[in-house]
This record gives sequence, structure tokens and C-alpha cells, in this order.
Amino acid sequence: MLLNLGHDLVLIYCHVIVGTSILYYVLDILVKTVAVIKSNKDTRYALDSIVTHDGMKLPCWALANLSSFRQKIGPDTYDQLDVIGIDEAQFFEDLYDFCCEAADRDGKTVIVAGLDGNYLRRSFGSVLDIIPLADSVMKLTARCELCGKRAFFTLRKTDETQTELIGGADVYMPVCRQHYVNGQVVIEATRSVLESQKLQCGSYT
Ligand SMILES: [Zn+2]
Repeated sequence: MLLNLGHDLVLIYCHVIVGTSILYYVLDILVKTVAVIKSNKDTRYALDSIVTHDGMKLPCWALANLSSFRQKIGPDTYDQLDVIGIDEAQFFEDLYDFCCEAADRDGKTVIVAGLDGNYLRRSFGSVLDIIPLADSVMKLTARCELCGKRAFFTLRKTDETQTELIGGADVYMPVCRQHYVNGQVVIEATRSVLESQKLQCGSYT
């Protein structure tokens, strides 16, 4: 049993994309009435289901914010829910208030999965803000794609710099500390070479 049902608010977070980790926790307690919410910003997969990287599917609600959930699902259906799973929690700005109300006031078991840090290793969204609300917190890790050690960080392979760049293995890879640092050095070096080439090209015209 991965999850003790005595928990009211569980935060599962990781720094790297390890698949839809929440799925395994929700599957484990499907004897209860469950609804899963994910952000509608992530359109890589079908919006009416969460899909793991292995291709397993669970029906879910793709929403812009959590405060609309009760209305969308209907107040009666909401009242009957035992468990609410929130996936990709870093994309929800109203995460703290929603979790607080659902767990404290409405008596739901809330299971939250998300990234604690972005590709720059800075706090991502409100995921870390809800640690004080949670009665259980788990930090998961993946394997470094380069050496197989435990991967704590995400290396962005492209040179885009916006914080919310949604992508999978084409854009990100899980890496250990050493390969994160080495990777940043390589990315910086590549960027400065490209910059200087651009300058040289510019000077010939
Ligand atoms: Zn490594």
C-alpha cells in the first residue's frame, strides 16, 4: 500500500518528470470516489484523460484553475467525492486555497503531484507553498539519462528561456547533480559560440 488512507492532504513532488506519478497513488485507492484534475495548459495528451508515459489512462478534468472545479463537476457530485487528485500542480495559481478548502472544510483526501523546481532549480508555482498544509510529503526522483544515478534535476535541452515551456523527452531530461552542472556549462558554451557566430555573420554584411 503506497498511501495511508488516514492522510487528508498528500503532496507528491519531484524535480524531474517521472511520468504521472499521481496515477499510481490514485489507482491504489480506487475503491473510493475519485476525481483527477490536471492543467489545461498541458495539451500533449488527450484533455479528458491523464496518460502516463507508459500509455495508461485515467479520466480527468482539464481546467485553467482549481476554483472552477466544484461548479464544473457539479456541487452534488463534488460532495460525493472522497479523493481529489491534482496533477501538474505547478500550473495552478490557486493551489493553496483549493487544497485548504477541500481538505479542511470539505473533508476530501487531496493528493497533489507536481514539480518542486523549474529547469533553473527555482521554486515552480505554488507546489512548495502547500508543504505546510500537507500531512505527508514525498519527494520522488528519476534516473539520470546520462549515468543512471538518481536524478534530482531537469535539464532543458533547448535554448528557450520562458519558465512554462511544456514538453516531454524532446525538451527535458532528468539528470543527476553532476550532469546538471556539466549540462549548464555546455549549454552556456554553445550559446556563446552561436552568439559570436551571429556577430561575425553580421560583420560581413
Ligand atoms: Zn548523471
